[in-house]
Amino acid sequence: MSDCIFCKIVNGEISSNKVYEDDKVLAFEDIDPQAPVHILIIPKNHISSIKDINEDNVDIINHIHLVIKKLAKEKGIDQDGFRIVNNCGKNGGQTVEHLHYHLLGGRHLMWPPG
Ligand code: 5GP
Repeated sequence: MSDCIFCKIVNGEISSNKVYEDDKVLAFEDIDPQAPVHILIIPKNHISSIKDINEDNVDIINHIHLVIKKLAKEKGIDQDGFRIVNNCGKNGGQTVEHLHYHLLGGRHLMWPPG
């Protein structure tokens, strides 16, 4: 989508610190990190939110989870633990309308969220 920031990151119009890329997903450092490790994992194709996941595109969720597992190991946060966050919609705190998972780790994370 032409006005989507994350689509612009995928196509290189906006720069990012990429940590992983394949034909289906891109992972890059969050611009405003909330933990020592804070990576965003997104599908390269525009999907607005988890609400747009269906039988035809659900495989991307499995794939994103495998990428998260790989990145957690690479970043050395798999032993002590980490958090995956998907914000959906206004009340969920979603500010960018392109499906993304936050991978957060490297410190003890509080629960419940605010
Ligand atoms: P949300 O609040 O939608 O779950 O998360 C959006 C995330 O995208 C936020 O953590 C925010 O810091 C991050 N973000 C927004 N714009 C940019 C950008 O241009 N580059 C990067 N790397 N992260 C961004």
